[in-house]
Amino acid sequence: MPRGRFAPTPSGKMHIGNALIALLSWLQMRSADGQFVLRIEDIDVNRSREDLAEALVNDLKWLGLDWDEGPDRGGPCGPYRQSLRQELYEHELQKLHEQGLLYPCYCSRADIAAAASAPHGLASEGKRYPGTCRRLSPEEAQAKAVRKQPSLRIITPEDPLLFQDGIAGVNECRLSDGGDFVVKRADGIISYQLAVVVDDALMGITHVLRGADLLDSTPRQLLLYQKLGYDAPSFAHAPLIVDAEGRRLAKRSRGLSLSFLRAQGIRPQHVVGWLAWSAGLLDRPEDVSPSELVGGFDLSKVRSEPIRLTDEAFRLLFPLHP
Ligand code: GLU
Repeated sequence: MPRGRFAPTPSGKMHIGNALIALLSWLQMRSADGQFVLRIEDIDVNRSREDLAEALVNDLKWLGLDWDEGPDRGGPCGPYRQSLRQELYEHELQKLHEQGLLYPCYCSRADIAAAASAPHGLASEGKRYPGTCRRLSPEEAQAKAVRKQPSLRIITPEDPLLFQDGIAGVNECRLSDGGDFVVKRADGIISYQLAVVVDDALMGITHVLRGADLLDSTPRQLLLYQKLGYDAPSFAHAPLIVDAEGRRLAKRSRGLSLSFLRAQGIRPQHVVGWLAWSAGLLDRPEDVSPSELVGGFDLSKVRSEPIRLTDEAFRLLFPLHP
């Protein structure tokens, strides 16, 4: 049975970009008689807020989406909040340890930026990690350990990696372009890369549909699936909604949060129709509910280029404010 998920981080209000991802992943499952899971990615307690997690759930319901398993409904693969899954992550981390794939890293961001050989790595990871701590002798590592808690990095292979994305097409990349990456941070928090793989694997997720900003995380996650001994899901990375200049919408773009749209009296069917039109599922924006889109859903119709919020698109979204 196909299983998909929406996995928001409750660090900001849900905006139209997040809503598009939720809608598309929901449609992908509902059109395939699959199951849909809601998982709250609150692993980073410093960035996550309980009130925002509650607001996310309400926003999704307002849009007309539902889920078979989630923090509010329970299910066989719970808990559905990352903050409650620490033991599961530690167990999987141990499997990587036992294969000799991890090493402690004492470098700060500034150390990495300052490393002479640091070219730009993967967009989501900042500078390429030059491998400094991989080459430490046991004595050097011990001396550093006295002063600082290390993060844990996983050794990445040099070989190029090819994968097929359901929206973005064929992707080729070299994991080593980003360097060895962090699986556990120095503050003890499991990294996004590891947590998301453990969760998707243990929750039996077969289809991951998420924003294109995470496309370059996929090779790192494929490595983790392989090393942890799980089958990888299929991936599809949907376009981001960007402003007229091509800049990414931030969660802080207050005007485009669902709660703001709702407060303006805009109906959920209007938002859903606008999103479906923007993504290429409808020829023109018309008011629809998510369930009315299930029958005609086809992933191949979803455009891969970013969705530009031009003046015209903006006017169509805000019909009450010409
Ligand atoms: N929690 C991530 C976010 O809100 C999404 C993770 C994923 O879909 O893999 O951006």
